[in-house]
Amino acid sequence: MSPAPPGRRAPIRRLDEPTAAQIRAGEVIERPVSALKELIENALDAGARRVDISVRRGLEHDLEVADDGTGIPRAEVLLALEPHATSKLAEIDDLQRLATLGFRGEALPAIARAARLTLATRAAEEDEGSTVTVEGGEVGELRPAGRPPGTTVTVRDLFFNVPARRKFLRSTAGDLRAAARLVSAYAIAFPEVAFRFTVDGRERFAAAPARTLAERVAAVFGQRFLDQCLPAEEERPGVRVTALLGVPELARVTREAQIFLVNRRWVQSPLLSQAVRHAYGNLIPPGRHPACIVDLRIDPAVIDVNVHPTKREVRFASEDGLFGFVSQAAARPLARLTPRYDAGAAPRAGEHPSLVDLVRDAERQMPLWGARGPAAEATADRSAGPGAPSPGAGFFPRAAAGVGPAEVREPLGAGERPRFANLWQLHDTYVLAPVSGGLVIVDQHAAHERILYEEALERMRGQAATAQQILFSQIIDLTRAEFELVVDVLEPLSRLGFDLAPISPPSVLLRGVPAGLSGRDPVQLLRDLLDGIGEESGRQLPDDELTDRLAKSYACHAAVRAGQPLSLEEMNHLVDRLFATSLPHGDPHGRPSFVRVDLRELHARFGRSTPTD
Ligand code: ADP
Ligand code: MG
Repeated sequence: MSPAPPGRRAPIRRLDEPTAAQIRAGEVIERPVSALKELIENALDAGARRVDISVRRGLEHDLEVADDGTGIPRAEVLLALEPHATSKLAEIDDLQRLATLGFRGEALPAIARAARLTLATRAAEEDEGSTVTVEGGEVGELRPAGRPPGTTVTVRDLFFNVPARRKFLRSTAGDLRAAARLVSAYAIAFPEVAFRFTVDGRERFAAAPARTLAERVAAVFGQRFLDQCLPAEEERPGVRVTALLGVPELARVTREAQIFLVNRRWVQSPLLSQAVRHAYGNLIPPGRHPACIVDLRIDPAVIDVNVHPTKREVRFASEDGLFGFVSQAAARPLARLTPRYDAGAAPRAGEHPSLVDLVRDAERQMPLWGARGPAAEATADRSAGPGAPSPGAGFFPRAAAGVGPAEVREPLGAGERPRFANLWQLHDTYVLAPVSGGLVIVDQHAAHERILYEEALERMRGQAATAQQILFSQIIDLTRAEFELVVDVLEPLSRLGFDLAPISPPSVLLRGVPAGLSGRDPVQLLRDLLDGIGEESGRQLPDDELTDRLAKSYACHAAVRAGQPLSLEEMNHLVDRLFATSLPHGDPHGRPSFVRVDLRELHARFGRSTPTD
């Protein structure tokens, strides 16, 4: 017998003892959310088109999963509650062809031992359903039940029977968060299935059947999130990966923004996580994890799902091969975010250091455009030596990934301070900078956004408020909503450099603005800034997210616009500061801030075989 695919069921049978022994897992229900996971997986294995999940007063108190799948025929209902009885697998070799999420036949009996479980079900081919309740392993009477085809499992007082476990239960709020994460992960894994998640009678989440992964992702995480993802897709015989990769700015310190699916199973996979991280390279700073959704479909014969009690882990037969495959698939779209760059040194074959590498080099006292090291012979015409100092434009501060106030900079010695004698502004929008390897074209708005974004983060994370007092304080009349928002975010705003005092609602007094913004209308800037952090009240956002939104909004609204003429001094300043940021490649939204035109490419286009012909 070959294992049944979801939706087409084989009869439930008891596994023989040797087979049971090989897949026995022990603690399948380690936490309340594990019970929910098993029930959702059962519904999906039954080919459900819709899954309704509801929780009342905490997962361990009252949890219900209802589906419209195949149901269980009357004659098999009691068998379903026995250990190692399953319709999904008959012998151990079936794991090689496994098409379902479940296979051990352990979940229902395990939950039924620890809780009061009611199973109500009707097989589509039968006229009447059945219901049975098990309390702490005591199986009640099997009764007829009028109900539509499908299955509803209700679990009450989980662990009432296991006092030792009850003591160690996590907080209800944490469980609910874990449950929401689980439901969204399976909603992503099964876009064609409708999901509904209700907590205490309030709908937390609902998703109608979707046609594509992208459509479902937009329904679950919002269109804005989808817009900030790059799609990736790659196929080889026996394996296919489809992924959505968040722009670098969505990266988080935890892996919470990552979903890995292997044959539609939601898994934790250090291997896949590292493969994706590898593809981002230095687009994101160390210690952060990119946001991503990775949907891997692979021949079940080359994976092992029988490695962990909760089936959250899988093992792959060829780890190296898979690592390379996934990481390459992810690197392709990400390459658009990393304009490779090899200024200074004559490029060695096959080597394209990124700007971040070059900034790191600079930390080791090797100026990017200075007359030192291997760059020397090529840079004489571009480096005006110790010429006019550029006030405030420190070169290559330590690439300290956004910590410490902006003022902490370590300029190189004056003698090494490179200057661009030749910078051009194109259409008042792009700054052209000749470098030894070719030409760098900087988008002035995107570059300035990147600079201001990092400065804003530094300021908000540090203590120093660098407000520049304005000559005449101004009273600003805000809307009620704006006023409340200002009150919520007063502290980060003041660290950013806005000296504000709420007077009487809805008016505030503006006494100072962030230094270096002369020439901007401070009132308009404040309004735009508030608009940019969104409808939600600042109070509802976690601190680092609020800081990030403020920084992005500030950068976006305070940055120099396209169409604005810049002086040579300003252009110098802009280019210097861009390459002194930790991630010069792109603006805070993931759009590139510069592109590089390779001299070799120009030579090739003009039919020159070598540069000196
Ligand atoms: P497993 O899923 O590993 O087979 P379970 O203990 O979770 O083990 O379920 C035992 C059996 O009960 C399943 O093999 C399946 O035949 C049946 N079953 C459980 N839940 C459902 C459901 N929602 N719809 C249809 N059949 C179900
Ligand atoms: Mg199961």
